[in-house]
Amino acid sequence: MNIGELSVIPLYDGSHFECAWDMFSKTIAEALACGRDMPAAARGGAAADWNPHRDLLCPDGALELTFGGFLIPAANGRLVLVDAGIGPHAYKGATGGRLLESLAAVGLSTDDVTDVVFTHLHGDHIGFAAPYGYPTFARATYRCHSADWDYFFGSNDIISERLAGVSERIEFWDREMTIAPGVDVRPMPGHTPGTTVIVLSSGTDRGLLLGDAVHSPVELVDDAWAGMGDIDPVAASRVRSALARELEQEGSSGAGGHFPGLRFGRLWTGATGRQWAYT
Ligand SMILES: [Zn+2]
Repeated sequence: MNIGELSVIPLYDGSHFECAWDMFSKTIAEALACGRDMPAAARGGAAADWNPHRDLLCPDGALELTFGGFLIPAANGRLVLVDAGIGPHAYKGATGGRLLESLAAVGLSTDDVTDVVFTHLHGDHIGFAAPYGYPTFARATYRCHSADWDYFFGSNDIISERLAGVSERIEFWDREMTIAPGVDVRPMPGHTPGTTVIVLSSGTDRGLLLGDAVHSPVELVDDAWAGMGDIDPVAASRVRSALARELEQEGSSGAGGHFPGLRFGRLWTGATGRQWAYT
């Protein structure tokens, strides 16, 4: 994928298939009231809600969630990795483990990575940070939003263990900032307190790495959909609406942290409302 003169290389780590109607609610009120503990049937969430969006599902109705990261070769010899997959250890029933193979397949090694940037600190995004207690990317500066570090590190056992090996060298942002030429971080809290969208720009083109601010394009097509794993569902909904408006603009494209195949797509408004197409 190219954003102007910037290239973005998806690095596959693994896939997981979820029951599509277990992952989302059709109203924020439901998401607030019950989280994911309430069965979909009891929420009123139903397979039928997906009928207008079947193109976003597998033929059997499952929602594919891909895990991995995005590699951005930037100016001045910088090589930025956004998110580090699930890693070699399972997380919440899902497995990955292939991110380093994917890196080698494009002719690069862990030592080539100069910056590791986390959209947020859930376990399926930090897997290869330091899975054996030392940094996988030995030459890299690791970075995340301070709000996620404060929220998770020290209080969530799995996340603390997975990040212990980089705790001495991680650097933080707490506002918008430039990481490398054409690579900016923009905090958009909701999914987690420090959830951040990575903004790639070159010329008039713009690509958004959405992390888990958006789990499926269905949330961009229809504002009523709400993810069931957001720590602050109201803020997360506001973020998705703002992102949808931005993605509708000419020259904009985006990729979620779990979109199938880590593919980019575009959003536009047609006669029947917003539509999404993978590019
Ligand atoms: Zn995730």
